[in-house]
Amino acid sequence: MDRKTFLKTLTGTAFGSGMSTSAQGQMATSDLRQVDRLLKAKQVQVAPGFFIRRALPLRGLNMVDPFLLLDHMGPKEIGPDEGAFVPPHPHRGFEPVTFIFEGSAEHKDSMGNHGKVHSGGVQWMTAGKGVIHSERIDREAEEGRGKMHGVQLWINLPKKDKMMEPAYQNIPAEKIPEVAFDGGKAKVRVVAGSVFDAKGPAKTFTPINAFHVVLKAKGQVDIPFPEDHNVCVYGLDGVVTLSGDQRVEGGELAVMANGKGLRLGHVEGATAQVLLLSGEPIKEPVVSHGPFVMNSMTEIQQAFEDYSNGKMGQLEE
Ligand code: MN
Repeated sequence: MDRKTFLKTLTGTAFGSGMSTSAQGQMATSDLRQVDRLLKAKQVQVAPGFFIRRALPLRGLNMVDPFLLLDHMGPKEIGPDEGAFVPPHPHRGFEPVTFIFEGSAEHKDSMGNHGKVHSGGVQWMTAGKGVIHSERIDREAEEGRGKMHGVQLWINLPKKDKMMEPAYQNIPAEKIPEVAFDGGKAKVRVVAGSVFDAKGPAKTFTPINAFHVVLKAKGQVDIPFPEDHNVCVYGLDGVVTLSGDQRVEGGELAVMANGKGLRLGHVEGATAQVLLLSGEPIKEPVVSHGPFVMNSMTEIQQAFEDYSNGKMGQLEE
């Protein structure tokens, strides 16, 4: 089914433009998850001259299990040679995922995968027992300046999957369903997991929802989540209300308390967007060192040894 047909199907059923708010399943206020913690991302230089905002980990917040790291790149206009190239490096034990809202990301790895995604696309890599990859984050323009805007998210793997064969999912924008709410004033792009009947294309190893939500013109949407999930909202741009009067702005991470769902609302002014994440906590010990995330220090030492011995493969720069 192409995207147009898919959206039409949705509009004809439970949600879509013209439906009343109640028909979309507005939740009782007492069921909504409230903001438990609101934290500001810190500026970090990850490559010479290349700054990002890091929302995870932060002092006092090691992770939002299963989410380990969240780096925000841009939004920024950049010129030629101002993108970031991260030369070949290994990973083991988790999934590095790159969301590109504007611009491009190119990935090459020691399994022989080579992929590039553009605005709206996602690169979902499962490092498993070990892989070496290089990454290039850039603007879209062939010439001149252009917008660069993305997030890299590290998602933990449970112990039973940490040593699986590595995998790579290249997900272009057109494979990501976009669900319209509140007459199109709220749009939910479903990368992983599901919103009502819309399912995201990414295969995950524990139950995870990853949504890119775009809000304008005082649009509002209620999104249910399993009660045992941890839920957090990262502000990409603009201002969004969370289950009432509390707000998250660009560069802030809101960790939500328990409840059945979340209400996102647009305030006023420019279009706002957030990355909305929920996941069933893995609840296992996490020992993270550089590019490896395992359950014990012994396993980390083994990872360094295996990397030195070439067991994670080879990748020419
Ligand atoms: Mn990497």
